[in-house]
Amino acid sequence: LKSGQEGLSAADKEFENNIRPKDIEQFSGQEQIIENLRIFIKAAKIRGEALDHVLFHGPPGLGKTTLSRIVANELGVNIKETSGPVIEKPGDLAGLLTNLGPSDVLFIDEIHRLSTVVEEYLYSAMEDYKIDIMIDSGPNAKSIQINLNPFTLIGATTRSGLLTAPLLSRFAIKSRLEYYDSTTLQKIILRAAHILNAQIDTDAAGEIARRSRGTPRIANGLLRRVRDFAQVLNDGQIDIGITQHALRALHVDEHGLDEMDNRILAAIVEKFKGGPVGITTIATSVGEEAGTLEEVYEPFLIQEGFIKRTPRGREATEKAYEHLGKTPPAYGAT
Ligand code: ADP
Repeated sequence: LKSGQEGLSAADKEFENNIRPKDIEQFSGQEQIIENLRIFIKAAKIRGEALDHVLFHGPPGLGKTTLSRIVANELGVNIKETSGPVIEKPGDLAGLLTNLGPSDVLFIDEIHRLSTVVEEYLYSAMEDYKIDIMIDSGPNAKSIQINLNPFTLIGATTRSGLLTAPLLSRFAIKSRLEYYDSTTLQKIILRAAHILNAQIDTDAAGEIARRSRGTPRIANGLLRRVRDFAQVLNDGQIDIGITQHALRALHVDEHGLDEMDNRILAAIVEKFKGGPVGITTIATSVGEEAGTLEEVYEPFLIQEGFIKRTPRGREATEKAYEHLGKTPPAYGAT
């Protein structure tokens, strides 16, 4: 079960689009972000202007793409979607920008993966809705400046730490999406089940919610798998019994931790005696970038109380030891 969107097949994406909330009322959680967006959207509409540029950052699967589409929908404008690695050269970006209507949204997923030349080309577009384009080639080549329609850039990233200061400063609205609590996830699961026409008990939805790593994408993915078990073994009825059976069969961790989470905990506990240990040392040991650990994995482990951030590095908590089936060292024994 992958949480990153890169790992999604065409069928997964179609499933996601089917159950994706389309308007702001259907979107659960992230209350503060929603409340602010409503104000900014309303103000932009009253003034008849394009909404300021927006950056959504946070771990994968928390609703950045969903929110971007909802923003465009609420603004009543079109949205063009692309992603950082897809825009290879300034010309590609110019093509997208010149095709935007007044106040339209350009959504760039994985915006931290824009190349430097493309990123720099974006600056003047964001700042004063102007770009330079080259016409002709060879000795006749010259660059002319053209005006764009005022537009809103919505950038999404799991790694805001990789964004340069000049790019960051051009987003007037920056929102960090947080992990969802299980009550909100339960609601999301019930809604998705309804769309899928699946019969589900509220306690079964609660059980899936608790094991979904605070992430709607994971919750919906688990619902889909549990539904398969229910279809074959329980007349399609998703109750607590079939849910627990399915989650066991799928080896879903009882706290919803994924493989990388468990590797991180095991590394701290087994290789570094529970810490404190530096993030780069942990990163080397689990074969992942330190920045990804810090922005994508660690926030959940800290929030759920598996690790602590101390001035000397990361420490495993008692909960981490228990989770790994190990005895925590006696307090003060080291
Ligand atoms: P991201 O862009 O952050 O990786 P997405 O916006 O693609 O995440 O969301 C992943 C899936 O989770 C989508 O299928 C979407 O329907 C669902 N989802 C995300 N946030 C919510 C939410 N707040 N309420 C309901 N469903 C959500």
